[in-house]
Amino acid sequence: AGAVSLGQLVDWLSSFRDAVHEHGAYLTELDSAIGDADHGANLIRGMDAVMAALDPAPPTAGELLKKVGMTLVTSVGGASGPLYGTFFLRAGAVAGDATDLDGDGLVALLRAGLEGIVARGKAEAGDKTMYDALAPALDAFESALGGGSGVAGATRAAADAAAAGRDATEPLQALKGRASYLGERSIGHIDPGAASAALLVAALAEAVD
Ligand code: ADP
Ligand code: MG
Ligand code: MG
Repeated sequence: AGAVSLGQLVDWLSSFRDAVHEHGAYLTELDSAIGDADHGANLIRGMDAVMAALDPAPPTAGELLKKVGMTLVTSVGGASGPLYGTFFLRAGAVAGDATDLDGDGLVALLRAGLEGIVARGKAEAGDKTMYDALAPALDAFESALGGGSGVAGATRAAADAAAAGRDATEPLQALKGRASYLGERSIGHIDPGAASAALLVAALAEAVD
């Protein structure tokens, strides 16, 4: 049996929904500094739609995650909807018929999700986007697993790395998305998408624990 059940994947999404509600004002405040002040509202709308659309007892991880992705793409008008939507669509394609996942299986689907974000948005490390929280989180997850951590410990390491990656966006100049229009004036603010990505990884650690 795998270490992460379908129920825990649903818990992950539910915990992320709760987190975007709890921190929505903060996400929007970050976006008001370097964007258009809608990131919190975008994700609240998206995750409320996801939880409303979800089968509470999905048959496979692939069906669950693809539904999440399609719902985000269609319910969030803004860069983050298609980007997070693609993350879940790609993750779902890799998850396929699985009904539980071990650490390596979880890494494979998260890695595919991140590749989808890059395919869609072309972000590179240091562009001051959600990538800068997600990429180090995945790296930390993999090295923790490689070092013998269980899935719970590895997701905690990932959550710590995502938070550090979020904080490290503050001194960067944005090179992708709306914030890039500000040029040097984007320096000195945490990227809103990196902040929500850190919440997404923290929610995973909570669900898997
Ligand atoms: P919008 O900018 O359309 O209002 P949101 O405010 O919901 O959308 O999301 C903004 C976040 O999306 C940014 O903080 C950044 O992290 C992320 N983002 C924007 N463009 C890209 C991109 N090309 N690649 C990766 N992430 C991106
Ligand atoms: Mg915005
Ligand atoms: Mg917007």
